[in-house]
Amino acid sequence: MLTHHDLDHIGNAFMLQKLTKAKLWASSEDIPFIMGNKERPGIKKIFASIFPVKKPEEIQPYNKDVKIGDIEIIKTPGHVSILYKDVLFAGDLVKCKSGKLIAFPNMNFDEELLRKSIKSITSIPFKWVCPAHGEPVERGNQWETIK
Ligand SMILES: [Zn+2]
Repeated sequence: MLTHHDLDHIGNAFMLQKLTKAKLWASSEDIPFIMGNKERPGIKKIFASIFPVKKPEEIQPYNKDVKIGDIEIIKTPGHVSILYKDVLFAGDLVKCKSGKLIAFPNMNFDEELLRKSIKSITSIPFKWVCPAHGEPVERGNQWETIK
């Protein structure tokens, strides 16, 4: 499952799929970017030309919340997170800096969309957060107070 189409999150998909024959999913919004059928917006277009990545051989759209064993795929506006038992793999929704969770707007989100995504999963009872950038951290009450 790819959380979103950014180059730093899809760069190994081709090789991992080739080596493991694993099925690969992404949000239907992101597949055209991943497969090169749609140009990335803004500066991402420039990064994509400087750092080209191989496209996966096959990718399937993921469009609704599903559960595969203990793994739950959670779609939020503009992003996908993965819940495994009490651990949330939050992709680029948040990052962890010095043990603190903070919103991670970088170039993926406008601030409003990011806040909407973070808020939309507040009621999920995860205990740990593994952001794509930064170290894993215990949730405590941090999710509710993300700055
Ligand atoms: Zn990232």
